[in-house]
Amino acid sequence: MARLPEPAKLEWKEDGTPVATSFDDVYFSLSDGLEETRAVFLKACGLPEGWQSVPSYTIAELGFGTGLNFLATVEAWLKSTTGQNNWLHFTSVEKHPMSPQDAARALARWPDLEILAAELIAQWPVPALGPHRLVFPDWRVTLTLFIGDAEDWLNTMDFQADAWFLDGFAPAKNDTMWAEALYPLMARHSKKGTRIGTYTVAGAVRRGLAAAGFTVAKAPGFGRKRERLEASWPGTEETGAPDLPLMRPTPKKIDRLVVIGAGIAGASVARSFALRGLPVDVLDQAQAPAQGASGNPIGLVMPRLDAADTPQARLLLHTYLFARRFYTQHGGGLAMRVDVEQAAQSEKDVQRFEKLLADPPLPDTTLTGSKTGTDVVLTHHDAMMVRPNLLVSELLDHPNISFHGGAQIDDLADLTGRYPENTLFIVTSGLASQSLLSDMDIQMAGRLGQVDWSDQLPEADENRALASGHYALRTGTSLLFGATFEAIAADQMPETSEKARAENLDALKAMSPDLFEALRSAELQSRASVRATTPDRMPIAGPVFHADTLRETLAPITKGAPVTDALSYNTQQCVLTGLGARGFTFAPLLAETLAAQAFGEPLPLSRKEYEQVSPTRFLIRALRKG
Ligand code: SAM
Repeated sequence: MARLPEPAKLEWKEDGTPVATSFDDVYFSLSDGLEETRAVFLKACGLPEGWQSVPSYTIAELGFGTGLNFLATVEAWLKSTTGQNNWLHFTSVEKHPMSPQDAARALARWPDLEILAAELIAQWPVPALGPHRLVFPDWRVTLTLFIGDAEDWLNTMDFQADAWFLDGFAPAKNDTMWAEALYPLMARHSKKGTRIGTYTVAGAVRRGLAAAGFTVAKAPGFGRKRERLEASWPGTEETGAPDLPLMRPTPKKIDRLVVIGAGIAGASVARSFALRGLPVDVLDQAQAPAQGASGNPIGLVMPRLDAADTPQARLLLHTYLFARRFYTQHGGGLAMRVDVEQAAQSEKDVQRFEKLLADPPLPDTTLTGSKTGTDVVLTHHDAMMVRPNLLVSELLDHPNISFHGGAQIDDLADLTGRYPENTLFIVTSGLASQSLLSDMDIQMAGRLGQVDWSDQLPEADENRALASGHYALRTGTSLLFGATFEAIAADQMPETSEKARAENLDALKAMSPDLFEALRSAELQSRASVRATTPDRMPIAGPVFHADTLRETLAPITKGAPVTDALSYNTQQCVLTGLGARGFTFAPLLAETLAAQAFGEPLPLSRKEYEQVSPTRFLIRALRKG
C-alpha cells in the first residue's frame, strides 16, 4: 500500500461547491452547506445545549473534507461558551485529504467563517497518514485528524465520543464509510447517551446502527432532503478490551500539576497542562531551566523517517509534525524553519533513502532527494532549527506556570506528602527519573553528548542544516556541530573533552569541508550533557506503576493466557523520560498525550503508536519471552 494518502480529486460547481469526482458527490448541500451542518449535525446532537457546563466535550466525525462541519461547530462553540473554561475536542477521520488551497476555496463562500477558516488553514496538516493534532488555545478547541481509512483508524483510536457526525458521501457511492463493521466500532467509542446526526436515511445505515445497539429515529430533513437520521447510544460506556501494553489512567480530579525537571520534556508538559487552565509548579535542582541535555544554544528538530510503514515510524513522524506546530505557536520566534540535508553514510542508508523516495511517507514539498554518482542526499524541507536553552524558558513563561529552581528532589513520596491530594506529579528528570521511580524498574542508560560551536563567524547569508549521524547548524554568526553519543555511567558528571571535539571536527569535515574551513581561526566553545536512552531507544510516557505488582497481574502472559485483572498503577504520578537525542522532537506530542490521559480526552495517538512509548512495554515483552 502506498504510504501517502490518495488526495481528494475535485471539480467545482459554478456556485463554488466542491464535488469529489471519485465519488461523484458534493461535499455539502448545494442549497447551503453551513445551514445544513447546523441542522443535520449540531441540532441532531442537541448542540449547543449539550456542551454547556461540562468540562470537556468530544465530537467524533467521519469525513473531515473541507473542515466546514468543524468550523461551524467552533463558531457555535465560541458563541455559546464565552467566558467558560471548558474545552472542545473534535476528532475526525479523512481518507482523501484536500489541499489547504482547495479547502480555503470551498470555505470562502461563508464570510462569517472567514477568520476561523484562516486559522484552520494556517495549521492545515500535510497529507501524511496518521494522527494530526491541531490545538487552538484561543478557542479552547483541539482537532485530532486521523488521515486514512475510517474503519482502520476506529479500530485503534482511543477516545469516547459525546456526539457523532456521520458525514461520508452518499452511502450508495461511498460504501467503505458506511461499512457494517463501523457501527460496532462507533458503539465502542460511545458514552451512555452519546448522540449521532447524519443526513442520510439509507436503510443500510439505519439497520447498521440499530444492530449495533443504537436507538434510531427519523427527523425532518434539510433543504431538498425530506428526512435525516438521529440516533443515540443507550448502553453503558463500552471501552472494549484494552490493548495490553496500554495503561490508560482513569482521570481523577486534578487541581494542580507538579513537574520534576525543567528540560524540554518538563517545559512541554507544563505548557500543555497550563493551556488547559491548570496551575503548574516546575521544580528543578538547578537554579535555572534547561541546564541539562536541553541547554544547548542551537538544536535541530527533524524527522527520523523509516522506510517501512510501522507504528513506530508513524510515531516518529507525527511527534515531529506536532513539534513544528507547537514551537511555531508557543516558541516566541525561537524556532526557525530550515531545510536539512541528510547525506547517506553507508550503502544501507542509500537503500533506505531510495526506498523512502520511492514510497515516501511525506509529500514532496516536505521531502526530496538527489543523487550525484553514488551520493544520495535527502532534503527535509521546512524542518526546524531551535534555540533550545531559550525555548525552554519561553515555554515556561505562562501565567499558570511557576518555576522553582534549587529544588533537589530525592524522594517522590516525601514530595507528594507536601501537596494537596488532587495534585498530579510528572517526572521528567531524564536519567535521574530512574532512581526517583525505582519501583518501576526502568532500565535506562546515559549517553554523553558534546557539541562544539563558534559565535564569531561572518554573518551567514542563510540558515543551513546538515545531518548525517552528526549534524552542523549554521545561523547568523554561529556554527554549532556535534554531537557525540558515548556511554556514560549513571553517577558520572558530564564533562567536555578534546577527544569529543576532535570527533565532532572530523565529522564536520566529512559533512562539509567548507564549513570546516570557515572555522579555521575561530575560537570554539563546548558543552556536554547526558541524554537518557531506553533499551529500544523510544521514550517512556505514561502512568507510574510498581513493577512487582504489575508483573503479578500480567503473569498469565507467560502462558499465553489473557490478563483478567485490571492493571494497577499510581493515579498520582506519571513519567516522561528516555527521550535520547530527540528530546525536542518527541516532547511536545508526548506531553500532549499525558495531558489527554490525565483529563480523559481523545489521545493524540492511536493505541498502536502509544504502545511504542507505553511504560509497561518492557515488562510485557519480557513476560512474553518467558
Ligand atoms: N464533513 C465534511 C465537510 O465539513 O466538508 C464533508 C465530508 S464529505 C461529504 C465526505 C468525506 O468523507 C470526504 O472528504 C471523503 O474523502 C471522506 N471519505 C470517504 N471515504 C472515506 C473512508 N473510508 N474513510 C475516511 N474518510 C472517507
